[in-house]
Amino acid sequence: MKKIQIDLRSDTITLPTPEMLKYMFNAKVGDDVWEEDETVKALENQLASIFGKESALFCPSGTMTNQIAIRLHTQIGDELVCDKLSHIYNYEGGGIASNSGVSARLLSGECGRITVDQIHQNINPDDVHFPRTSLVCLENTVNKGGGVCYDYSQIQDISTYCHSNSLALHLDGARIFNALIAKNDSAKNYGKLFDSISVCLSKGLGAPVGSVLIGDLNFIKNAKRVRKSLGGGMRQVGYLAAAGQYALDNHITRLSDDHDRAKKIGDKLNTLSIVNNLRPVETNIVLFDVHESHLNRFKKLLNNYCIKASFMGDQTVRFVTHLDFCDKKLSIVLNALEELN
Ligand SMILES: *Cc1c(COP(=O)(O)O)cnc(C)c1O
Repeated sequence: MKKIQIDLRSDTITLPTPEMLKYMFNAKVGDDVWEEDETVKALENQLASIFGKESALFCPSGTMTNQIAIRLHTQIGDELVCDKLSHIYNYEGGGIASNSGVSARLLSGECGRITVDQIHQNINPDDVHFPRTSLVCLENTVNKGGGVCYDYSQIQDISTYCHSNSLALHLDGARIFNALIAKNDSAKNYGKLFDSISVCLSKGLGAPVGSVLIGDLNFIKNAKRVRKSLGGGMRQVGYLAAAGQYALDNHITRLSDDHDRAKKIGDKLNTLSIVNNLRPVETNIVLFDVHESHLNRFKKLLNNYCIKASFMGDQTVRFVTHLDFCDKKLSIVLNALEELN
């Protein structure tokens, strides 16, 4: 009998469900570069309204939505402020520099969460020697920080500070719905605090592709031009937007199941002496270090149970729970980990 394969490398590996595929097939589409795709417009309107913003733009990836936002909030030669674990800095191919000609001031937050005081200490004075600080970028949840989320009040303080100091504030909300579910916060309140928000449909929400950039009318109008220049203008893309619509309607509340399963894995890891530095398990990511001398044993065990994890650095392991990870698979993982006791 074929062994059950358990893939916990990322929440991007999920396959569209049969229901999602059916919904995609039935989408009404048109040429979206000519603004004739009803399904894309409906998805954009839905997300703008969820966050209480004026407008939104469907893009192929979260990298593109973030990079468009950075381009629009800065001038060449400026500096942005973000945590050193940020996706925009680590995983977007150096796009901050190559797309926008901007430098990054990297802060050391707590698992990727930065504070208003840290930001305040890293804004350059208005002096020709220094790059002009024009943008602050937050990430919520923080991928490389183990999926931790901000408290709403922390972001409120940062937003107030940014807006009274002429700084734009962008949210890399690739997993914002995980944060909203975990903290029981409202999307509309988030919309009020940020100038722009990027949301991924292809992570925990389970769509095959897509990210949406959200902001005010003029910002999104300009974003459309940048998207075109980056090669992101798409034609009958309503088939993919339909997957996003289906995900928004059906896959948000279930994120709490992913969080519960991640928590159970975290609780088990906490009992193992070979595990160090387990980051707080607040959402669907479980990030921890395995003691060097046990690394081979750990990898062999995963292999025996057909469990895939991602390795982020020599000893750091990441499990991500998602739509295709069920209770049956969870119990296999928990049993496997028990062997390390
Ligand atoms: C996945 C991700 C993105 C976007 O990645 P794409 O693969 O380009 O869609 C952005 N930020 C974070 C935190 C992510 O995890």
